[in-house]
Amino acid sequence: VKKAGKRGYRFFDISVAEEESSREALMREMQHALDYDQFIMYYQPRVDTGNGHTCGLEALVRWVHPVRGLMEPLEFIPLAEETGLIVRLGEQVIKKVISQLAYWSKSGYPLVPVSINVSVRQLEGGSLADTLSVWLRSCRIDPSLVEIEVTEASVARHGADVLQTLAAIQNMGIKLVLDDFGTGYSSLSQLQEMDFDMIKVDHTFAARLEDSEQGTALFNAIITMAHSLDMRVVAEGVETRQQASTLRALGCDEIQGFLVSPPLPPAEHPPTPPVTLPA
Ligand code: C2E
Ligand code: CA
Ligand code: CA
Ligand code: CA
Repeated sequence: VKKAGKRGYRFFDISVAEEESSREALMREMQHALDYDQFIMYYQPRVDTGNGHTCGLEALVRWVHPVRGLMEPLEFIPLAEETGLIVRLGEQVIKKVISQLAYWSKSGYPLVPVSINVSVRQLEGGSLADTLSVWLRSCRIDPSLVEIEVTEASVARHGADVLQTLAAIQNMGIKLVLDDFGTGYSSLSQLQEMDFDMIKVDHTFAARLEDSEQGTALFNAIITMAHSLDMRVVAEGVETRQQASTLRALGCDEIQGFLVSPPLPPAEHPPTPPVTLPA
């Protein structure tokens, strides 16, 4: 028993060390990837429940890793946030999205606003508003074509600098979106304080529409509350026609999810034909 315990302990030790070194390896690879431009953006549409038109796109980062293949954000964003690399990555994301808008504009495509996800670390430094303003000006893109998404969890534990950065961004004419709504426990007074233009209701709420009446009642309450604060409501993670028709009946303004389209590379985006939603 003693022997097995000992071996078990040593095994544990090694796996901790392995995990540590694989994190370090991933971090070095990420630094390299930033130097060599291995990050690309995918775009996912959100559509108006009234007319089925695409009323915006969400920019979602991907890492084209030379060995591991196409990596999704959950595989590297958490480590980027921990290590601070998210600030550099975030700047590249902004540059890529605004350049893409300029390209679409030059090609004569009808433009829709594109939303960019930002981590709380990017709001703390205070340079985010400048970065946005520099790229918008150099690409001659109207600020109304860019939206900034912050998660409810990140603003719920905000400092004064985070609020200031958000206010500066909003004053430039950029819309603010509260992401993953319903998971971050923000109070109604916090919601009012920040004056968001739109909320994105976390995908777990759309999933609950089908299995219970409470799910529908809950979503209804969120929509009523958001509208009374003059915020548009987007349902995220809409996968079925039934969810879409319930949301439309409840007065949800927009939906996003696999039912409409998965995130796609930019070449497959505008012009997007209107989507026919179930009645
Ligand atoms: P998010 O902002 O909540 O983005 C929505 C996620 O839901 C995306 O995952 C999208 O692919 C996925 N999704 C879309 N439709 C459906 C659906 O119908 N069902 C389900 N189950 N999922 C759906 P993705 O692209 O893997 O991104 C994951 C998260 O990584 C994002 O969650 C966001 O928090 C973060 N992220 C992505 N891009 C960036 C970025 O450029 N900067 C930062 N800071 N974070 C990013
Ligand atoms: Ca988002
Ligand atoms: Ca979300
Ligand atoms: Ca408002």
